[in-house]
Amino acid sequence: MIPQTELHSADWQSELRAAETDGTALLARLNLTPRQMGFSAVAAREFSVLVPLPYLQRITPGDPNDPLLRQVLATSEETLVKPGYSDDPVGETGDTIRHPGIIQKYHGRVLLILASGCAINCRYCFRRHFPYEDNRQSRREWLQALDAIAADTSITEVILSGGDPLLVSDQRLTELIQAIADIGHVKRLRVHTRLPVVIPSRVTPGLVSALTATRLRSVLVIHSNHARELDEEVGAAMRRLRAAGVDLLNQSVLLKGVNDRASTLAALSEQLFAIGVMPYYLHLLDKVRGASHFDVSEQAGKALIAAVSALLPGYLVPKLVREEAGQPAKSAIAPLATETADRC
Ligand SMILES: *Cc1c(COP(=O)(O)O)cnc(C)c1O
Ligand code: SF4
Repeated sequence: MIPQTELHSADWQSELRAAETDGTALLARLNLTPRQMGFSAVAAREFSVLVPLPYLQRITPGDPNDPLLRQVLATSEETLVKPGYSDDPVGETGDTIRHPGIIQKYHGRVLLILASGCAINCRYCFRRHFPYEDNRQSRREWLQALDAIAADTSITEVILSGGDPLLVSDQRLTELIQAIADIGHVKRLRVHTRLPVVIPSRVTPGLVSALTATRLRSVLVIHSNHARELDEEVGAAMRRLRAAGVDLLNQSVLLKGVNDRASTLAALSEQLFAIGVMPYYLHLLDKVRGASHFDVSEQAGKALIAAVSALLPGYLVPKLVREEAGQPAKSAIAPLATETADRC
């Protein structure tokens, strides 16, 4: 008999293998044409199209402005050359100083780059030009990275990142998490991932137990930009994690034509909370080459977050932030002041 865990993991891995990687075929499935959509084969060669079917099924056929489609379709706008947009907008490659595969920018937290690549290619991604090949970790390198963490008692939180760290098998994740838990000064484990949103069957029993059968407090930060990304299956996956005691947060990127309206952001927060996930960050776009058409200005972002604050309880308003190289934390952007709040 095949154990439950393997059944599930075969599931998500086959969904990943069946992902749509051809932009023209993607559009044909949606009754749209490459011409009408400005599809660019050149852009797709530089950063490939990758859309697993569970995500593709949430796109509305025939709608050229679908906010999910806009996040995944390579278009000619990506080939525009814009001043101020670079390949490494947040100064990450210069920060992999301690060890290949480790990024530390902030006090107490280190980021481990576990996987090269993702389950979906988001066109606005600030790591779209990241040299994953130089940072891919072999087993030996993992051990060296863990030695570096063990040697630095100021580190209290290890963040698994990538690419998408949940591309790694449950077995390897379990081993890695156990090894991290063996380092006495580490208290928290954080996983930054878009996979449960893209392929919710990734939340296997094996993953849930890897995150919970440990003395570490586990936090899972998903990445969703629109309420329509959070369907029943994603909701069920989040409930499994929460029931097991994993804290769930969401981060989004503010994207023109995707979620740059107060009502859209409010609906996202409402839907996140309904499935047990707290809004955490709303990132202003990192100025990465090829993504200028997604940019929303800081001024517009401030106005939007003020409008969202007027619609929702405070705990459902994400923090608007920008990543700046060389800062001790992500920079918080204050909402535009409206009237003086009543604070009695
Ligand atoms: C965003 C980020 C973190 C986590 O920052 P928090 O404010 O704790 O969420 C850690 N390391 C790097 C390199 C980051 O970019
Ligand atoms: S899942 Fe995250 S890291 Fe991967 S392409 Fe999308 S935004 Fe980038």
